[in-house]
Amino acid sequence: MSPALNKAHVSIILVRPQSPGNIGSVARVMRNMGFGRLVLVAPERFPHPEARMMASGARDLLEEAAVHDTLAAATATCHWLAGTSARQRQHRNMPLTPGQLGDKLPALCQPYRVGLVFGPEDAGLTTAELDACHDLVAIPTSPEAPSLNLAQAVAVVCYEISQPRHAPAAPPAPPLASVAESEAMYQHLRQAFSLRGFPGEPAVERALSGLRRIFERTGLERRDVRLLRGIARQLGWALRYPRR
Ligand code: SAH
Repeated sequence: MSPALNKAHVSIILVRPQSPGNIGSVARVMRNMGFGRLVLVAPERFPHPEARMMASGARDLLEEAAVHDTLAAATATCHWLAGTSARQRQHRNMPLTPGQLGDKLPALCQPYRVGLVFGPEDAGLTTAELDACHDLVAIPTSPEAPSLNLAQAVAVVCYEISQPRHAPAAPPAPPLASVAESEAMYQHLRQAFSLRGFPGEPAVERALSGLRRIFERTGLERRDVRLLRGIARQLGWALRYPRR
């Protein structure tokens, strides 16, 4: 049986939330389900009396919420990100259900910090933001109405991952790279790819997005990131100074 979920290592990250009421409702349901780390990325209005009102007994979560300008800054110290979306993405691996995420998290959250990323009410997360996540999570819904209210989506996910799991615990793995380390590696690869060869920026981004999809299947260990950055460095060198 899996270890219990280490909830102290789970952050609920709301990206550009528009409604202060939703922020408050998220804090409330986090308290209900035993989660304590709320992170806000560029909230439209915060702090706000409506958020406090909706939070009810969880106002302290609002007061302690970390507020950042960008998703990258908010997640730099996380090791694994799961992005939620009501929409299917063509180029990505199949999204997990919240239950499948729940099977995966207990082993991951023993040593690592995990961020569960939720998008703004109007448009959801951008493709670039979803690309930055290791897993995609979609709550199965009726196909003609896939989009849940933000706080209700957080409620479903937090409830599901809180249920006891019966899957065997995964064996311990070598240290995973943090989001900041992986992003620095992608930036390094982007620079090497941009030197020559790829016809323009969209082609570079498509290649990087394909690499992300491959790497996300298993997750990158720190040593993988070191190796790939070494390859990017050599590649950059070879392209800048070609042998005649
Ligand atoms: N119109 C947006 C929906 C935004 S709803 C869209 O089409 O993507 C606000 C947020 O709630 C989403 O970004 C996502 O984080 C979460 N959410 C809503 N419905 C969801 C679902 N069915 N599965 C997973 N997350 C969902």
